[in-house]
Amino acid sequence: MEAGLSIDSTYQAYLREGHLMGTRCTGCAEVYFPPRGICPACGSRALEWVELPREGRLAAFTVIHVPPASLAAEGFDRDHPYCVGIVELENGLRASARILGVDVSHPETIAIGLPLALELPPAGEAANSHIVLAFKPVK
Ligand SMILES: [Zn+2]
Repeated sequence: MEAGLSIDSTYQAYLREGHLMGTRCTGCAEVYFPPRGICPACGSRALEWVELPREGRLAAFTVIHVPPASLAAEGFDRDHPYCVGIVELENGLRASARILGVDVSHPETIAIGLPLALELPPAGEAANSHIVLAFKPVK
């Protein structure tokens, strides 16, 4: 793993290019998402980047009507809720992500098990902006 760059900034750089990355322990082969720099299973610091599947299924979700300040600034509020969920990736790892393209005003229409695909960040996103991991339903 490259020295000098934080794990989060490297993860963000990959995500910006459309790659969902975790880390794999070279000692015991355990894969982590979010990526970790130290393996909690065996204590090794020798972890390598590994690309994760871009598709998965909705395992759990919640529609949020009262967002934290950072999201309120993006225009979300009581009348403009958003959905966050747990996506079970095709390799079984679970990722917390924004769920786009679902009807947040009718949460009863959002089904557990819904097939989802990684939503790439919009082109032209500022280089220093924080990319939010997002998935949307497979059409
Ligand atoms: Zn390990």
